[in-house]
Amino acid sequence: MTTIGTATANTDREKYRPGGPKLGSPKSINLNAFHTNAELTKELTKIEQKSDRVSLREIGRSAGRNDPLWEVKVGDGDTEVHLITQIHGDEATGTEVALKVIKSLGMSNSQQVDHILENLSFTIIPRVNPDGAMYHYDYDGNGDAEWVGRRQNTQAWNGESRYKPYYHSTYPAGDPGYDMNRDFNIRPPSEFNPRTDDREEWWYNQRYLDMPYQGHTLFASGLRLTPEIRAVTRSFNEANPDYAITHHHKGGNLYPDSGTGNKPQKQTLMSVMAPYGEDYLDRSPFYPDDHTPITEAVNPFLDYETSTRSIKLNSLVIEALAERGSSIFDSITRYGYYPLWGSYLDALCPNIANGGDSAAGMLYEVAYQTDDLGQKGLGRMLELTKVGFLESFTALADNPELAEYDTETYFDTPLYGEGIQQQ
Ligand SMILES: [Zn+2]
Repeated sequence: MTTIGTATANTDREKYRPGGPKLGSPKSINLNAFHTNAELTKELTKIEQKSDRVSLREIGRSAGRNDPLWEVKVGDGDTEVHLITQIHGDEATGTEVALKVIKSLGMSNSQQVDHILENLSFTIIPRVNPDGAMYHYDYDGNGDAEWVGRRQNTQAWNGESRYKPYYHSTYPAGDPGYDMNRDFNIRPPSEFNPRTDDREEWWYNQRYLDMPYQGHTLFASGLRLTPEIRAVTRSFNEANPDYAITHHHKGGNLYPDSGTGNKPQKQTLMSVMAPYGEDYLDRSPFYPDDHTPITEAVNPFLDYETSTRSIKLNSLVIEALAERGSSIFDSITRYGYYPLWGSYLDALCPNIANGGDSAAGMLYEVAYQTDDLGQKGLGRMLELTKVGFLESFTALADNPELAEYDTETYFDTPLYGEGIQQQ
């Protein structure tokens, strides 16, 4: 996603535009520690065979490799949780943790798991981007293709929309693909096809679909051009969730004001983010003046109750990690929220397909693994995510409204600090 602290004047629209194709360098993660698509399929199939609680369904195929997109269902509770990981193919740790969590929920007989499954029902898509996950190219120019992963899927634009949208790119290695976390659209497929039902005047610079909707303009809306996002949208609309969770990686960043004297500043290993509506507009880090459309700062389709639950869900993860008491776990920062109208959380949480019965949301972003963190860093990121997931599931099972948590824990958490140069 984009940098914090650069709320720009609305005269500079092109610059303000969030999250175009990201040209960051591939991470220094050793992908051999992660499951290939074939291994993931094998593992999920094995869990389904061994567990009488888990059901596995293929909900689609990836655009390039035609690899399966898996959806896992587990749990019998009234509170529905929809969880997706690795929509960006080079952001792999969420999938590894999701797999561990699916295994626990499917096989463990602990009291904690029983309690979770009695109260929650999960729909989990553990790898939204199989093409990006398996992407190989000759990154170091030695003549052999390395497994580096990529943000986008691998799909050409063949004129299937009026204009080629801003989130299609040919980076790296010249291969075309979509940033799929910009491909969602708030309007349900049953009433609107953004590939064909757009209008010329909605397009800005022949790159951005600025779609009008219920008196607002939803800047840079997605066009559902990818089969993966059409599948995720169907899955979400069928699940009709109360909570939606998505897991990402971001660049390395410092924890603000953490270094004193000879002590170096520490790194934040995770940032979290809650989508919220107009009731929290005055808490927005990106609302420069009253003339800016509020759809650049908040999601007006999330009511007070849902926004509050989103924020409390984030508060609970921050608290749960801080209670672990180590400096890794208390380095959590906030990712400053503003809506990305083509993203999973902002397009789907309003839940227009189910009459606007909106879902609370949460974004996890763990820091890239840097060279100096090595395998230890990978282990920490997996642990942070796993603790975050399991603690939040337990808390939601205890009380789906999260009554005992408050919103200020979230707003008191600092926005993440300056970026750390990647090797
Ligand atoms: Zn991401």
